[in-house]
Amino acid sequence: MSSDLDTHLMTITERPPIVMARGQGSYLWDAEGRRYLDFIQGWAVNSLGHAPPELVGALAAQARTLVTASPALHNDQAQRLAGRLVALTGLAAVAFTNSGAEATEVAIKIARKWGRLHRGGAHEIVTTHGGFHGRTLAAMAASGKPGWDALFPPYPPGFVRVAFGSAEAVRRAIGPTTAAILVEPIQGEAGVIVPPAGYLRELRALADEAGLLLMLDEVQTGIGRTGRLFAYQHEAVLPDVVTLGKGLGGGFPIGAVVASERANCLEPGEHGGTYHGSALACAAALAVLDVVARDSFLAAVRARGQWLAWALGEFARQEGLAEVRGRGLLWALRLPGPTAAAVRDGCLARGLIVNAPRADVVRMMPSLRVTEAELGEAVGILSAALAAVAPAWSASA
Ligand SMILES: *Cc1c(COP(=O)(O)O)cnc(C)c1O
Repeated sequence: MSSDLDTHLMTITERPPIVMARGQGSYLWDAEGRRYLDFIQGWAVNSLGHAPPELVGALAAQARTLVTASPALHNDQAQRLAGRLVALTGLAAVAFTNSGAEATEVAIKIARKWGRLHRGGAHEIVTTHGGFHGRTLAAMAASGKPGWDALFPPYPPGFVRVAFGSAEAVRRAIGPTTAAILVEPIQGEAGVIVPPAGYLRELRALADEAGLLLMLDEVQTGIGRTGRLFAYQHEAVLPDVVTLGKGLGGGFPIGAVVASERANCLEPGEHGGTYHGSALACAAALAVLDVVARDSFLAAVRARGQWLAWALGEFARQEGLAEVRGRGLLWALRLPGPTAAAVRDGCLARGLIVNAPRADVVRMMPSLRVTEAELGEAVGILSAALAAVAPAWSASA
């Protein structure tokens, strides 16, 4: 779908021929003034929606005060944010990054260092088929996205992939060369795959038994997305390492890696980045956490998540759709055929932005402040888009 808009851009992705110009809450407006109900929100990053006053105020005030000192100097916002993340996770220490993929890189470095220090040089990380950990080469190697293996080989070695959701598969993959386990609490990019209850608890037990690190990628599931501040809190486990990104900055780029006391093993010179922990990025994250970490806010996310689950469930039953899956405000609908791109485009034409992470899966990740009315509007548009596409699959069935 390349257009004039792609003339001066590398075509690294296909974008519809629309130019976005403004956002407010759950809505985006294009340059022509057309309004869209935004259920991707920057890819699950605008946790408070577009232009939330708290974030706007914090960014403006911090921009006037200090954008960045230097990664070689402490700054007051990074100090506050690190303290906040340690208190909220129950872990011990934080390293900041600019993105989720970089947070994965830091987690991989921690695993390898840990293996060298405590597991006789073990360096392998058990990961999952369908997993997604970012697009740097090592993060791609850690991921299990179909087709990726063929894109840019050779990849850094040291990753063993097993089926997602099976603790038994992880147990079988663990050997003397294993240093860590890395999984998403819910696989996001794979199309919102929710593992069986108890999965994380079983992985915690396996890691403890074998002396490995349990590393959770909460880049997508963290910061309230699933109705708890961190998805691991649903199972009352504590990982050794948790990676954060996306929703943490509310749309402003920041990632973080939080490690337990025992996993906090990196030393000076082993990681860094020019923009890591800038005062501006940390001020954005503090503003987001001030809102999202409140119990009342998370309870409201759970309530609206339950409403959406109910509405999607009803709708799926009526339409005879195979499956609705998700938690909190991260949901996917499995369609009876490879029509997700057509449904996504049909939604866009009707003023709703959703995503098609798989050929038969449509995903929604609205603002954590989305209203019931907006959820209802989205389900209505989805229903109309499906009805328009449905003949295609009934004909091919
Ligand atoms: C998006 C995502 C990443 C990568 O984050 P970027 O900021 O795009 O580098 C890593 N892990 C998960 C689970 C994600 O959803």
